[in-house]
Amino acid sequence: MTKVGLIRCEKNETRCPLTNCFKTMLETTEGFAGYDACTPVGVFTCRCPGNNVADMAKILKSKGAQVIHLCTCTFASKTEEGWDKTKGGFCPDIEKIAADISRASGLPCILGTAHLPKDYSPITFE
Ligand code: SF4
Repeated sequence: MTKVGLIRCEKNETRCPLTNCFKTMLETTEGFAGYDACTPVGVFTCRCPGNNVADMAKILKSKGAQVIHLCTCTFASKTEEGWDKTKGGFCPDIEKIAADISRASGLPCILGTAHLPKDYSPITFE
């Protein structure tokens, strides 16, 4: 059972309650397809410009997280043809933030949760 911490973007926190993030985590599909089983340890909201993520990552680790995932909507957008990474998502600095999370916590940080863009394989920062 892999214990997962989630970090989402403040720009989506009042619009999406992470419904498909949790669904795919519990199903171990999409961004969680590499795990046998997952359980969430908690969720934090990253606030621009992302200076708070290092502390959040350390707290998630202290709560038992073995890996931290960043929501797909941070780096991809919904289009009529599906989710598209080329158009970007809510965060223009998501790769730097993922690297900061991994460096601060010592945990792998993975870009992706639900509804992955076509032909996208989750990128791991470690
Ligand atoms: S990735 Fe999808 S389900 Fe998860 S917070 Fe973003 S819009 Fe909601």
